[in-house]
Amino acid sequence: MKWSYRIARISGIDVRIHVTFLLLPALFGYSGWRDAGWPGAVGEVSFIAALFVCVLLHEFGHALAGRRYGIRTPDITLLPIGGVARMESIPDKPSTELVIAVAGPAVNVAIALILTAILALTGGVLAGPDSTGRIMLHNLLVVNCGLIIFNMLPAFPMDGGRVLRALLAMKLSHLTATQIAGRIGQVLACALAVLGFFGNPMLILIALFVFNGAQQELEYAIQRQEYKKMLKDLEIKHRPFAQ
Ligand SMILES: [Zn+2]
Repeated sequence: MKWSYRIARISGIDVRIHVTFLLLPALFGYSGWRDAGWPGAVGEVSFIAALFVCVLLHEFGHALAGRRYGIRTPDITLLPIGGVARMESIPDKPSTELVIAVAGPAVNVAIALILTAILALTGGVLAGPDSTGRIMLHNLLVVNCGLIIFNMLPAFPMDGGRVLRALLAMKLSHLTATQIAGRIGQVLACALAVLGFFGNPMLILIALFVFNGAQQELEYAIQRQEYKKMLKDLEIKHRPFAQ
């Protein structure tokens, strides 16, 4: 990905950061500083850092699940709208795609459970007024629950959409499953964009990302089908020579 730089290498996977990602700590740091001076700025930046550790762990969930099936992930890139694990191939078997898609949100479920346990042990999940540390843990818990719900929306190629495609592909052809999941993804992307116009403009960026992603996956599925057909034709043509 252009304009992205490697910041670490964990378990053989490069962790990259896109330059636009730096806008996030800058914006949040500034708003914290405006509201509460330097302690406010430090608080906001630490929260963004903790949030993106959760996003990174989510992507590692996908990458390590993929590794179990022999699919390599050369790098994970952090963007302001989230993380992207670049896998070298898309699994052929629907059940494999299902496991890899679910592995990311499953990490956030685990994080949410750990945060809930820490909050429960330190004075109750919803207790207040609270210390700064507990407020941050509470906010992280809310954001992790948000990540689980948001990622599991059936907006292909987001995780929920991949789950949908995998479930459809168990009954239909890969191409038909991709076409149905892709169209649903694009309709949901339009709905997100509309929501973005009235609320958080970040949703418009995510909507564009989902819409284009669905289109690319559709084109990829068509190419894949044509390639498989070509291989089959070649096989038929060459069979007489093989005998
Ligand atoms: Zn994911």
